[in-house]
Amino acid sequence: MTIANYTSDHIKVIILISCLFIFFLLETFFPHFKSRKFQKMVIHSATNLFLAAVNTILITLIFGALLIWLFQFMKEKNIGIINFPFIANQPWAVRFMIGYLLFDFWMYTWHRLNHRFRLLWIFHLVHHTDIYMNSTSAVRFHPIEITLSTLARIPIYLIIGLDREMLLIYEIVLNISTLFHHSNWGLPEKLDRILRWIIVTPNMHRVHHSVIVAESDSNYSTTLSIWDRMLGTLVQSDQPQIIKLGVKKYLTDSWQNFIKMLETPFLKGDKK
Ligand SMILES: [Zn+2]
Ligand SMILES: [Zn+2]
Repeated sequence: MTIANYTSDHIKVIILISCLFIFFLLETFFPHFKSRKFQKMVIHSATNLFLAAVNTILITLIFGALLIWLFQFMKEKNIGIINFPFIANQPWAVRFMIGYLLFDFWMYTWHRLNHRFRLLWIFHLVHHTDIYMNSTSAVRFHPIEITLSTLARIPIYLIIGLDREMLLIYEIVLNISTLFHHSNWGLPEKLDRILRWIIVTPNMHRVHHSVIVAESDSNYSTTLSIWDRMLGTLVQSDQPQIIKLGVKKYLTDSWQNFIKMLETPFLKGDKK
């Protein structure tokens, strides 16, 4: 089988699995939080990955055909900001950069809305109840959050005019970025601080997963950290080793099993 036989989704999945493997090795051999038991990490990771597999099947069934039609429609009609005449004449790389920045800003906005509105938060909560954050936490989302975010992206695709190729590249960068900043890889704080000027880093995102609400309501960026810097939502910790991860009232192991994750939004608890 040659590379031409692979669809774009295959390439995305191959890169995702390869990066998962690499970050899993890095966080196992060079951990930030060192007290974790290996066996517990394996069970935790498998549960998060199983949830991600369920989500992938669900989204493909609900949106698969619609998204294929949508991108074909957008290609025929040339709609969206990056297809405006004065931008459409620019080189592909310039159009991609504009599309990338606009879409990354949407990702920041959507994440911030998830923390702002209770109806969105009760589902996003499942991402935050992860008390053993590692690379697999990057794909730990409640199926209803994934459905809502996929739905909300449809008008954004139309407004920006992203084509499938641009979206594929964005999603590959997004996958690598989220696996990296959720990983339990103990990057030296000095290096983390330098990288944080441009991209979201593990210590920056650990603050976002802090049990302290003033810290978790910050650092919403997904790939580029510039949005938090520009919009005043960046919080940096001087002591990333002592950040306590999770959400108050959800700090026990019982919230980590698959069925409980599905039930979490509908159970009584600290919902903001
Ligand atoms: Zn969040
Ligand atoms: Zn996260």
